[in-house]
Amino acid sequence: MKTEKGDPRPEPRAADTGGKDTAPRDGAKRSAPRRAKEVVIRGIPVAPGIAIGPVFDTTESPAEAPRRSIEPARVEEEKARLAAAVAASRKQVAKLKMRLSVLPEEAQEELEPLLDAYALMLGDSRLIRGARKRIEAGLLSAETAVADEADAIAELILAAKDDDKAGLRRRAGEVREIARRLTRNLTSSGFRSFKDVPEGAVLVAEELTPADAALLDPARIAGVATEEGGADGHTAIMLRALGIPAVLGAAGLTEAARRGDPVVLDGAAGSIALHPTPATLAAAKDQVAAYARERQRLAKLRRLPAVTTDGEAVELLANLEIPAELPLIAQAGAQGIGLLRSEFLFMNREDLPDEDDQVAAYAPIVEAMNGDPVTIRVLDWGGEKDMEALAEGVEPTHAGPNPALGLRGIRMLLKRPELLEAQFAAILRVAGQAPDGAVRVMLPMVTVPEEVKAARDIYERVAKRVRRRGEKLPEKLPELGAMIETPGAALAADAIALEADFFAIGTNDLAMYTLAVDRGDAEVAHLYDPLHPAVLRLMQFSTEAALRLRMPVSVCGEMAGNARLVPLLLGLGIRCLSMNASAIPRVKQAIRALDIGDCARFARRVMEQSDPARIRELVDGFAGGVTERG
Ligand code: PEP
Ligand code: MG
Repeated sequence: MKTEKGDPRPEPRAADTGGKDTAPRDGAKRSAPRRAKEVVIRGIPVAPGIAIGPVFDTTESPAEAPRRSIEPARVEEEKARLAAAVAASRKQVAKLKMRLSVLPEEAQEELEPLLDAYALMLGDSRLIRGARKRIEAGLLSAETAVADEADAIAELILAAKDDDKAGLRRRAGEVREIARRLTRNLTSSGFRSFKDVPEGAVLVAEELTPADAALLDPARIAGVATEEGGADGHTAIMLRALGIPAVLGAAGLTEAARRGDPVVLDGAAGSIALHPTPATLAAAKDQVAAYARERQRLAKLRRLPAVTTDGEAVELLANLEIPAELPLIAQAGAQGIGLLRSEFLFMNREDLPDEDDQVAAYAPIVEAMNGDPVTIRVLDWGGEKDMEALAEGVEPTHAGPNPALGLRGIRMLLKRPELLEAQFAAILRVAGQAPDGAVRVMLPMVTVPEEVKAARDIYERVAKRVRRRGEKLPEKLPELGAMIETPGAALAADAIALEADFFAIGTNDLAMYTLAVDRGDAEVAHLYDPLHPAVLRLMQFSTEAALRLRMPVSVCGEMAGNARLVPLLLGLGIRCLSMNASAIPRVKQAIRALDIGDCARFARRVMEQSDPARIRELVDGFAGGVTERG
């Protein structure tokens, strides 16, 4: 969403806040000199908009764990918890170190020794040995043992006879920082609370899961910046849906930013300016105003049809991640919901939603859409969409060594059919109360036609059972479609088309699986390219397979909401696009300036190319032309 944040929020104190030119070392972090220079950190732009506010660094928050003693019988268990937290912390520090190479040399020089010191402390160090001893001898919980040992070491360091007091403070700070990291890993619960984040703050974190993002209140949080994450990961999708300006994959961020630092975040440019200069601040405020003007202009398109200059209609649908988005969907003028990601129902809870819980969740959405189609995708669990409630029920061996290639989506549901049955029953009951065609059902992560066949068998069986219970169901069951989001499904699209009622091309996973690039991994984000010819060829193949059978086909991955890519998608034969609601006006604007013949010729030209860079050039060139014409 083109959201602007910042105007009504408290003015950051850019001129009077301390800091350093480059990312400061930890000890210096807490005793920084006043009047800081601006530090600009770059990351992946994932949700447009400007956020102006103070930093709220979540990496500092859960450090205070309550003091706890343990029974002698629990010593081994507690030591194992400590070992697991040490391993997790080591992994995190190694990851932070790996990402240093993208930073300016000066910042690398500053951070590298610090991360090396952290890594040493996570080895066979006095801190870890001492904590282990305190668990055994003092019968303390791992958290308490770590905190006590860190305090003892820090006090010793500070009491040392050394004139370099700043150096001593820095070393003591490093010990405490690593203790905080261990505590965070020891106490990390499945759900994080963001209730403490002050209104108007920019949330800074190493990583935010999609379930974390679902808890953010866009009215309170001005922006989000993290070290981890990729452009089309679920966290990014969630942040776009919530309209929170966001930059992910920003290396060096958590070491450079400290709580309360003034910051300007530009979610379209992918930049985070800590201690912004007055000029940066003024430019950001101008951009806030420009976003507001643009939004007003685009709002005027709401009632206009999405039709090309030569009269070809395009269906524009919305993706829905959480019910809070419903008002946005109405405002955007969506013609329906092309992808309701039902994962929200399973997130941030310890139990599973039963059939009635699910009816209660879907019914108001279908009702609000007033007969416009709502495509409910059954649970897509697995990979980065890890959910607490299910994780307990799925044995680790089932989650597999590589979750993205394991029991995800329909594979998991067919393995645990009771989940699929409850979800089908709920959807069918809601459909029974809605006009014909108002509900459609979609299967995620299909790779073989048999999965659609098996799901349809269950679907029909559930329908019979629900009817027998006396529930009202539609005469003709809602259509059952398949997502085409793996290369296997795309290349077998003609076979899958014989089993499915419609296709929705999920370009996010299609790009991830085709290119073997995790969509949420900042390390390989530069390789994640939905315009790679391999991805486009798979899209073309599956679209043509559907069109040959006159079967409806849409694109519901993030590509659909990118106005620059609309000519290419229309040229490939796509006439239905489902996207983040806030992208609809801009996409509609693009469609209204296009001629289908031009799009078809353009797509043919693109599909002749083998070089992704050349494809990007062509796409940019065409989009520039459209903007000029439009
Ligand atoms: C996709 O993979 O493109 C898609 C729409 O599904 P999700 O983003 O929920 O995985
Ligand atoms: Mg997907």
